Amino acid sequence: MYLPFAALLGLILGSFYSVCASRYGTENTIFKPSRSRCPHCKHQLTIRENIPLISFILQKGRCRHCKTRIPLFYPLIELTSMCWAVLAAMHTSSPAEWITLMVVGGICIVASAIDLRTFLLPDVLTYSGAVLVLLASYAGFLQVTFVDALLGAVIGAFALWAIAALYKLIRKIDGMGLGDVKFMFMLGALVGWQQLSILILVASSCALVFCIISLRGKSNLATTYIPFGPFLASGALITYLFGEQIIAFLR
Ligand SMILES: [Zn+2]
Repeated sequence: MYLPFAALLGLILGSFYSVCASRYGTENTIFKPSRSRCPHCKHQLTIRENIPLISFILQKGRCRHCKTRIPLFYPLIELTSMCWAVLAAMHTSSPAEWITLMVVGGICIVASAIDLRTFLLPDVLTYSGAVLVLLASYAGFLQVTFVDALLGAVIGAFALWAIAALYKLIRKIDGMGLGDVKFMFMLGALVGWQQLSILILVASSCALVFCIISLRGKSNLATTYIPFGPFLASGALITYLFGEQIIAFLR
């Protein structure tokens, strides 16, 4: 696989993902307005101001007109998309697998970004993602067999639902949304039932590191709501590519 091509495609797709994620739940749609605007001064971005990642770096993270800081959210989505495209290209054995992983990664990135912004995981993404992964495993595009994927989806979603139900029983508040459980159909299918524990381990580790960094000094840790979707997605994508290495490392 040609890595610079993968990186470029990842950046362009990342720009599209940030549009999807930032417009979800607003009056805008993916196609309207056709050009992005500065969220602060509403100035319509020129092509030069809209180059993924490059514009952000050249403009030192500020709008060229009103000089307001551009949220790091957008370039981070583009960077994540680029990294995923390259990593997937390095670790896949066939073009069909890479294309499948690009779509899966895209769904994961958009869903995670929407979860971070709105605390919601849209059904249209989680359900279609699950169907896509199951179909791809059936077609032999992925490194997981159809039966393992199906078991991964069902057991993974059930395990997460059980954890959420138990948490609610003990703490009397919702700790995890039903969206996370639905998301797990897709993510569990991607890694297969055998690696579900690795997925949960990686996701929890990422969430723990995030909590330690972002909630330092805040006293309301127990009541702060943290969207778990991005961590589940990271856990699944990392496990798919590096699951064997993680198991070897743990041993
Ligand atoms: Zn502006």
